[in-house]
Amino acid sequence: MKIVLLEGLGVPESVLEEHAARLQAMGHTFLAYEKDTSARVQVERSKDADVIMLANMPLDVSVLEQTTSLKFINVAFTGVDHIPMEEAKKRKIAVSNASGYATQAVSELCISFMIQLLRNVNETGKRCREGGTKDGLVGNLLCGKTVGIVGAGAIGKKTAALCKAFDCTVIAYNRSTVQDVSIDEQVSLEELLKRADIVSLHCPLTAETKGMIGKQELALMKKQAILINTARGGVIDSAALAEALREDRIRGAACDVFEMEPPLPTDHPLLHAPHMVVTPHIAFASQESMEQRAAIVFDNLYAWLEGKQKNSIYTPKL
Ligand code: NAD
Repeated sequence: MKIVLLEGLGVPESVLEEHAARLQAMGHTFLAYEKDTSARVQVERSKDADVIMLANMPLDVSVLEQTTSLKFINVAFTGVDHIPMEEAKKRKIAVSNASGYATQAVSELCISFMIQLLRNVNETGKRCREGGTKDGLVGNLLCGKTVGIVGAGAIGKKTAALCKAFDCTVIAYNRSTVQDVSIDEQVSLEELLKRADIVSLHCPLTAETKGMIGKQELALMKKQAILINTARGGVIDSAALAEALREDRIRGAACDVFEMEPPLPTDHPLLHAPHMVVTPHIAFASQESMEQRAAIVFDNLYAWLEGKQKNSIYTPKL
């Protein structure tokens, strides 16, 4: 089999060399490239591969259209909205992800966002640099707040568990029924938006969740509520959120993800909205999670080579 890694995995070269040697000993070929988003280069590198591996680089549909041998796309990421899934299914190409590698990393950043917003860290930091004080900007505790988790999967549940350590009440909205010790109550989206002091989004970006939080939903939130998005940018209507913040209709927001991958256009509405914390898609990216991610995708690879697909997003029917 020819296995092609289309972008770095954020781990030392020695890790890739070890796997290359192991795969070679098994009779396979492993080639690793640095990221190149050009469709032409992606096609060139993938055209005779049996397996491609990549992280969050958008995979051009032409790679699938022009492949002659591709059987498995091994995605070193949780979300697969950057993979042309319909084309993969049409061509019966298996797809797996690296589910779980970023659960702790994303949840920890969520807690940080909550506290940064509740304690006005952006605003007081600016004051501090300008020779000012905290006057008028004394914040609130996370302790005792009602946190609304939208999408109670792995990251939603972990964030819920961390919130319980702060004595929060956790309510959740999920497509299917969830049972979890850290979730006090499962409610409708409408009820969650009305009751939560902090709304934290953890659902995937799908046709159903695209634009899930728009003007109407923001209008349901409490005036003192905070919105956190570490899921996918497309779940929120950015223009509506920027407007809600400008008009003081909610207290603040934090976004790690946007409709497009950073770098963002400098006139993106959320970069100029008040009471807004922004980060350029860093939630998954800790050194520890990079190591775990590499371990998961190589484990996916060895399992698939033995005919046992792990972390399946799509398994072709034989
Ligand atoms: P997961 O599959 O374990 O959980 C997703 C949950 O969302 C599931 O419980 C599912 O039932 C629920 N869901 C799906 N559609 C829904 C809908 N329409 N309404 C309500 N709930 C719905 O995934 P996860 O590992 O918890 O990751 C969640 C998302 O977080 C990923 O899809 C990804 O987009 C995002 N993510 C972001 C980063 C980052 O760095 N910012 C890192 C990892 C994951």
